[in-house]
Amino acid sequence: MDDRTRRFETVAVSEGEHPDGDGVGDVVSPIHLASTFALPGLDTSMRLEDVDPAAGEFLYSRLNNPTRHALEKRLAALEGGEFGFAFASGTAAISTLFLAVLEPGDHVVAFDDLYAGTRRMLEVLFRDRLRVDISFVDATEVENVTDALRPETRLVWMETPTNPTMKLCDVRAIAESLDEDTVLGVDNTFASPYFQRPLELGADVVAHSTTKYLNGHSDSVGGALVTDDEAVAESVQFLQQVGLGNQVAPFDAYMIMRGTKTLPARMRTHEANATVIAEYLADHDLVTAVHYPGLESHPQHDLAAAQMDGFGGMISFELAGEMADAKAFLEGLEQFTLAVSLGGVESLVELPAAMTHEPIPREERLASGVTDTLVRISVGIEHVEDLVADLERGFEAMTAAADAPLVAED
Ligand SMILES: *Cc1c(COP(=O)(O)O)cnc(C)c1O
Repeated sequence: MDDRTRRFETVAVSEGEHPDGDGVGDVVSPIHLASTFALPGLDTSMRLEDVDPAAGEFLYSRLNNPTRHALEKRLAALEGGEFGFAFASGTAAISTLFLAVLEPGDHVVAFDDLYAGTRRMLEVLFRDRLRVDISFVDATEVENVTDALRPETRLVWMETPTNPTMKLCDVRAIAESLDEDTVLGVDNTFASPYFQRPLELGADVVAHSTTKYLNGHSDSVGGALVTDDEAVAESVQFLQQVGLGNQVAPFDAYMIMRGTKTLPARMRTHEANATVIAEYLADHDLVTAVHYPGLESHPQHDLAAAQMDGFGGMISFELAGEMADAKAFLEGLEQFTLAVSLGGVESLVELPAAMTHEPIPREERLASGVTDTLVRISVGIEHVEDLVADLERGFEAMTAAADAPLVAED
């Protein structure tokens, strides 16, 4: 069947899995734990490149594995790309892409509002150790990206929407401004392929932390790359199979594939709940700002509406007051769990200034919009009225703490 004629929900449920594929009739792909595979006979003319997983040929599980292969096919189809690769983490996927395209002396233009781990990877590993020069720019304006380009710029690295301030960049406009030799990579973790497909917008490579929405149940760590670029795919494949050996394990491949089946249904509920909550927060007296691309008040709402098929389940908002007030708010919550990470069925909350973005110097943090009272929530798929009631509990705890008589200090 031609993948491109089937709709997203259908591909999410079935691509890569064949009920009749192994003669038993499993309707889901088995977890193939074998490290090695029996060969039909000694073929002295066989080369590694000739082993074809698509034809059911496997040699050794680091090189390829049937469960991982099924997942990689599905991820490629969901992002609308030709080549998919699954890794042990989102971090492994991203570092593998960087190593696949960069050499010492190259230059990278990156969004200045990146996932904190990716930013540290770029600074500590690529800039300080591998002599790759990096310009961090405010990519909400396309000109800031194009102004930073140099003849030796090999990679432009973007996230949209960003974490945690929910800024966007215009992927199509950036893609159109780059020459053929410059690779445009987009980390699509926050939107998921259900709401945004960067390859269709002109990106060369898409990256995911499958730990988040693709797996969707906070019970597996993994990552993925999808590309249409044959040269990039060849280089990534060499690193995944031979250079680094950082592929996803069969059990996690199965878990991620299982998660993808419900991605559309989950994303629709994440978004419906997030829309109600964003509007509730925008009306609240103790909230000074709400960052959600679905709100008309978001400065890039029009771009979000044009570039994305939906606005997702991530919201950040600023509370009135100081960090102590934010702490009181968080302590009042019972349904939202205080935890880093995102994209699971359960609602999570975190305070970036004290958690994910704590290592960033305060001035730099404030400049990128991460204030002391900025709260990030990953809105789950619970009943939205229970979530709103929980936020109400947080505001009550915040008010009670502010009204409490001050304890004398002497
Ligand atoms: C979590 C995350 C990563 C890192 O992924 P891991 O699976 O934790 O290694 C990268 N980018 C974004 C946007 C993320 O949210």
